[in-house]
Amino acid sequence: MAARPSDTIIALASGAGRAGVAVIRLSGARSGAVLAALSGGPGHVSRDGPPALDLPEPRRAAVRILRDAAGGFLDEALVLWMPGPGSYTGEDVAELHVHGGPAVVEAVMSAATGAGLCRIAAPGEFTRRAFDAGRIDLTQAEAIADLIDAETEGQRRQAARLYQGEAARVFDSWRGLLIAAMAALEASIDFPDESDIPASIALGALGPIERLASDLEAALRDAGRLSRVREGLSIAILGPPNAGKSSLINRLARREAAIVSPVPGTTRDVVDVRLVMAGYPVWIADTAGLREAADAIEAEGVRRALARAEEADIRLWVSEAGEPERPAQAVSREKGASFRPGDLVILNKADRLADGAVASEGDVLVVSALTGAGIDRLEERLAQLVRERLDADEAPLVTRARHRELAAEAHGAVCRALQAARQGRGAELVVEDLRLAARSLGRITGAIDAEDLLDTIFSSFCIGK
Ligand code: GDP
Repeated sequence: MAARPSDTIIALASGAGRAGVAVIRLSGARSGAVLAALSGGPGHVSRDGPPALDLPEPRRAAVRILRDAAGGFLDEALVLWMPGPGSYTGEDVAELHVHGGPAVVEAVMSAATGAGLCRIAAPGEFTRRAFDAGRIDLTQAEAIADLIDAETEGQRRQAARLYQGEAARVFDSWRGLLIAAMAALEASIDFPDESDIPASIALGALGPIERLASDLEAALRDAGRLSRVREGLSIAILGPPNAGKSSLINRLARREAAIVSPVPGTTRDVVDVRLVMAGYPVWIADTAGLREAADAIEAEGVRRALARAEEADIRLWVSEAGEPERPAQAVSREKGASFRPGDLVILNKADRLADGAVASEGDVLVVSALTGAGIDRLEERLAQLVRERLDADEAPLVTRARHRELAAEAHGAVCRALQAARQGRGAELVVEDLRLAARSLGRITGAIDAEDLLDTIFSSFCIGK
């Protein structure tokens, strides 16, 4: 593990702005000295040693008056003293729970840094130290970022499972299998004279590796689902102009309390709205109306709408109830967009028809964006579709693009190793590919150190984490 400077860092750990309480956190060898300087008065002299710092009992909340260097009152705070190595970072940690105003925080922080005993932390530096001290692995560090960023229950659950180290345990056990197989094969390389050993050992050693190849494949297949839990499932609303697509999206958005904000799409024709459904984030794209375009600009809008439709996880095909034709589907068929299982047909403007003239059936839902009739049923069906796609009991493994790349590398190397073994090629070649696979898995959990990788990961954290 890379040696890290053990200077003492300080940062606001709670959110910026006004609040009842703000938590300022310190980590490093001089945390105790800073805490004592701010809160402890002159410090008392112990009978058999150097002056001891006046610190509260470890891991017990204590109320202290915080003062600046000139003895001026800063705040009355709740302070916690958590000496290492059993702390978050593994170092000596102190927390100051002060009144949560920006000026209070600023005054306490400048008094703390003023004495030159500590400096402001870089983004992610606390969690980085926790990782360096071996308190958590890299997937848990990422889980902390995910937990902090989680806005929905599904995201929180996924992050919580990662944080408990489920993924790390699986990746480590896979690495263990690779290392055991390498050891067995290396033994056969070391005793080349016993010519009947290599083949039998190779076959015995590679049984678990065959299973590993299929486990890695399954984890990579599951990656799409897991990234949607983090980033959101996409739903495209399609249909001819004036079918009521925007009205429908507004209706869904208003009823979903957790709407975050309408985000203009990259094109002026597609607008994404973020909602929460069944505890998962969902992006609904309101696309340009599908019809035979009058001009080039509109044709481009239709092209983009269809492209978005193809990428979306779920499509809602909206048209007006009672229309004999379904123009959206007709146009999309011509242009190549396809209706897939799990898509819904929405017949809107039911309020214009006589009661019961058209009824919902299966995945054809009759609604009125205007009156809200039928919207409950649509929402239930959507929540069900979202759950079907995102709920799962398996441990979340490959949740990020970083994991996906490394797991794919590992899978490639394992497959090459198996193929080389089947072709009866030298054990050295097989071992080399197993080593590459083990290295890729080790980089997922951080068991194999790579300074550049760590810098990238932790710099995406905010200061104070
Ligand atoms: P879009 O072009 O598909 O996005 O359609 P809009 O949402 O802009 O709606 C087109 C027109 O249809 C507007 O005048 C809406 O007020 C109207 N409209 C939308 N939904 C309904 C509905 O359920 N019932 C009725 N009667 N009018 C609707």
